[in-house]
Amino acid sequence: MFSFTQTLAGRFAPSPTGPLHLGSLIAALGSYLIARKTGRRWLLRIDDLDRPRVVDGAADGIIRLLEGLGFEWDAAPVWQSRRADRYAEVLQQFKKDGLVYPCSCSRKEILASAPHAGEEGPIYPGTCRQGPSGTRQQFSWRLRVDQQPIRFCDRMKGDWQQNLQKEVGDFVLFRSDGIFAYQLATVVDDLDSGIDQVVRGADLLSSTARQIYLYRCLNREPPEYFHLPLLLGSDGEKISKRHGEVGIVRAENASEMMQLALVFLNQGLPPELIGAPAEKMLSWALESFEDPLLPRDDRRLPALLEGQ
Ligand SMILES: [Zn+2]
Repeated sequence: MFSFTQTLAGRFAPSPTGPLHLGSLIAALGSYLIARKTGRRWLLRIDDLDRPRVVDGAADGIIRLLEGLGFEWDAAPVWQSRRADRYAEVLQQFKKDGLVYPCSCSRKEILASAPHAGEEGPIYPGTCRQGPSGTRQQFSWRLRVDQQPIRFCDRMKGDWQQNLQKEVGDFVLFRSDGIFAYQLATVVDDLDSGIDQVVRGADLLSSTARQIYLYRCLNREPPEYFHLPLLLGSDGEKISKRHGEVGIVRAENASEMMQLALVFLNQGLPPELIGAPAEKMLSWALESFEDPLLPRDDRRLPALLEGQ
């Protein structure tokens, strides 16, 4: 049905919704070191599907910064915004196979009919399974899920399971605003690029069961997953744009940020490399990386800064 590349690889897939943050640098570094340590290629993908949230120039800024920090990727970066035809092809196949259906429910209608709200919003109760019965003019396309719990072993978080029907409901692959959903794009891109190892922040752990279900629908094996603990702001929330300037990676603070990312991943630098150019620290880390040292718990940035 589809042709997929077979070469094993890991990847980093930033969303260009703002400048590179230390939290993302940690994910980049973790995926890079683990991929290289396990003899994999490492690829860069720009997750710029959600056009309304994309900031002009942010992707180029992130690419330039990563280059400056010494990261080397093994193929030209993939841009999700340029792959709509491919996602459409997969959605078309799902339509043919009867795996998806159009949904005309508004968010308000779903909220009103949902038995209870899940972590990421209301659980979709399957209102349109027998045909669109909402009031909205534009349709989204939802994937039917089943009752089987999805079980997987995350390399960082251990055994994990989720019952999609009870905890998520049939989920959206194509949004009513004409944008392909993150879950679909991620799985198709990872398959097409031969990604068999996904290292990313633990905030995406809750998406993993949906993605594994998609692999199943495509008759493919899912990758192995490493969900790294998160870097938090002083308020205990995942570090992000909301925290302002704190934690933004720039060419001027590249060395300090690389050092913090290595401290977060428990890869203690030798004294002579403290304050060295980021590239130097990175090539040292490639040589000396030890994955048993990877941290298990989230950490707040202020504590990380004190602990240096
Ligand atoms: Zn519906």
